[in-house]
Amino acid sequence: MLAVSRSGAQAPTAYTGPVPRTFHIRTFGCQMNEHDSERLAGLLVADGMERAADLESADVVVLNTCCVRENADNRLYGHLGHLKSLKARHPGMQIAVGGCLAQKDRELLRERAPQVDLVFGTHNLASAPGLLRRVTLEGPIVDVLDEPIAGGDPAHASALSADRDLPWSAWVTIQTGCDNSCAFCIVPAVRGREVSRPIDDLVSEVESLSASGVTEITLLGQNVNSYGRDLTRRRPLFASLLRAVGSVDGIERVRFTSPHPKDIGPETIEAMAETPAVCEHLHLPLQSGSDPVLKAMRRGYTAGRYLERLAAARSAIDELAVTTDLIVGFPGETDEDAERTLEVVAEARFDSAYTFVFSPRPGTRAAAMTDRFIPPDVVAERFEQLKLVLERSALTRHEARVGREEDVLVEGVSKRDPGVLSARTRQGKLVHFEAPSAGKPPSANPPGPKAPAADPPAGSYARVRVTGAAPHFLRGEFLALTALPRHRLRIPVRSGGRVLNGTSGDISSPLVGVGPGERAVAG
Ligand code: SF4
Repeated sequence: MLAVSRSGAQAPTAYTGPVPRTFHIRTFGCQMNEHDSERLAGLLVADGMERAADLESADVVVLNTCCVRENADNRLYGHLGHLKSLKARHPGMQIAVGGCLAQKDRELLRERAPQVDLVFGTHNLASAPGLLRRVTLEGPIVDVLDEPIAGGDPAHASALSADRDLPWSAWVTIQTGCDNSCAFCIVPAVRGREVSRPIDDLVSEVESLSASGVTEITLLGQNVNSYGRDLTRRRPLFASLLRAVGSVDGIERVRFTSPHPKDIGPETIEAMAETPAVCEHLHLPLQSGSDPVLKAMRRGYTAGRYLERLAAARSAIDELAVTTDLIVGFPGETDEDAERTLEVVAEARFDSAYTFVFSPRPGTRAAAMTDRFIPPDVVAERFEQLKLVLERSALTRHEARVGREEDVLVEGVSKRDPGVLSARTRQGKLVHFEAPSAGKPPSANPPGPKAPAADPPAGSYARVRVTGAAPHFLRGEFLALTALPRHRLRIPVRSGGRVLNGTSGDISSPLVGVGPGERAVAG
């Protein structure tokens, strides 16, 4: 049964001013939340609202919360304290809280922060615009569903409902929820059981994205390899999905995150190897290298099994980059366990890793293991050792690429140096290279007088040679532009260095650059 937690009777605080027109979304947490925010922005725009230039000037502020990270509660209530004073100076401002913490805390959230006008959960994102309108008339509302809406969240219905930050790259949610029960993880409690979107809907969405100029997609799910189990007994659907979206015309790169090590099978590896658009990058969360710890975490695999699957993937896919997640200091982790993790990490030769210090999430099994919590100084020492091994491994992997030529997707001008462009290789590695306009002509050109060179715009593809390596990025030199962006760019009209307006037009020349202030969608 669909349970609804709803309250909305506090009429005295009802807002009677003008209908809110602008919004600002602040997102916490993972890519899934980032993508939910994109879709929420798309829904609000479709409802007639506009993005505010900043949080201070917004009529509606939405906090899309995450309870996976440490101190999520404290950070949320800290933000809400700031918003309370902002609201006092901005009569009629509405504050909405969605996402995992809203799903978990529900009415408690309004009890602790009465300045919040709307609390909505992870299963009713699509209702948010309507709820905000109702808040205007009725006052504060808490509307949290216990289960997904039958037939799927309407917020997934169309790619066009997403208001994306990057017009050339898009996330595509293929499933929500998780049927696993990892001891440290709150996701199953706040996102519910796995619900997969029909494969035809996903292919249509990717076709729409491609038609709008997107060339790179990332498939999102908590456990992508179990995609489709709830749809059909015919397996395995994820491999079919990879092949289907990888063959959509115009899609150059397909990425996905995250597969579960216990579920990744040969069919997925074959689909990766045989579908040219699927990138040579596998993010495979290890979490620990110790079998007793993996068992206590309820992960469903051993370190040996993990390494076997990794070896199978590497032997099938040339140039495969492998990244992972690791938790340090899980309750009961001994020195031997930590040592074993270092050994497995060294053997796995990861290209990079996200490392987390264990912190208990209320409501999880691990949070109850208080008698086995590891002292912080011991955890800190293990964390530093692990970081050293990981950095050594990443540097070795990166140094092996020096001298090679790579196809990169240009992301734009480096935040640190306007003369440098940043891009990603198919393996997902960040490459910084000097912008052609800032230096010498491409080395592929014949020597001669230096001519002003055009920079490859963001969203274009280029060829670079790797010239240097660091643990977290590569350095390169630009060789050639290989493909222009296919999305429509906003071309600013300038007068005396000031942007007067923006018009849209198809890019037809690499001379049209895209800088940080010229993105089709400003954040
Ligand atoms: Fe959480 Fe485990 Fe599910 Fe991943 S697989 S979302 S860690 S319960």
